Amino acid sequence: MKTIGLLGGMSWESTAEYYRLLNELTRERLGGLHSAKCVLHSVDFAEVEHLQTTGQWQAAGELLADAARSVEAAGADLLLICTNTMHKVADQVAAAVGIPLLHLADATAEAVLAAGVRRVGLLGTAFTMEQDFYRERLAGHGLEVLVPDAAGRELVHRVIYQELCVGVVREESRDAYREVIARLVAAGAQGVILGCTEIELLIGVADSPVPVFPTTRIHASAAVAAAL
Ligand code: GLU
Repeated sequence: MKTIGLLGGMSWESTAEYYRLLNELTRERLGGLHSAKCVLHSVDFAEVEHLQTTGQWQAAGELLADAARSVEAAGADLLLICTNTMHKVADQVAAAVGIPLLHLADATAEAVLAAGVRRVGLLGTAFTMEQDFYRERLAGHGLEVLVPDAAGRELVHRVIYQELCVGVVREESRDAYREVIARLVAAGAQGVILGCTEIELLIGVADSPVPVFPTTRIHASAAVAAAL
């Protein structure tokens, strides 16, 4: 079994899910007392969020590159960045280490394509929904990506940072997300990517008329497959 390296804490609410899923999926595959071998470097999310909102992406990349080096030095054989948004600096992080980076958008695109979906809605932070780094990566796999309108994007982003990343799950926000998803489906989405690692704490299959693609579960599953 290979050792999975995790860059987490962005936020820790979703990193806790990663840890649980990696261990559950490993036990499902191997049975008995088996659990995942992993090394976690967990950052202070307030520092990362400050770098995001002030546009200091180079510095954010350096912070995560340093974290990646520490994870490699601690014995990791492969690397996960446990957030969709910070894949904006994925190339900078990957270049800092010799171990392979398992890119979240690639694992997600493969899951979407395997489900026979070609036109897919994307929910995530404003960075993920509005910038090229994530959508273009999905498009490179042949997917057509739809994002919510400006009001929908503002709502989805605000709930992530003001609620889900601080452990708050509200029924009103679940209803609001359901409406955003319904509008994406009306616009032609055949599935919806939960493209922020906290969204699956709020939204599940029952909240969408089309398949949802939970990126934390997809990423953890791809990591376990790579590790075993
Ligand atoms: N975990 C989130 C994501 O998957 C957002 C937090 C962050 O900005 O990293 O994008």
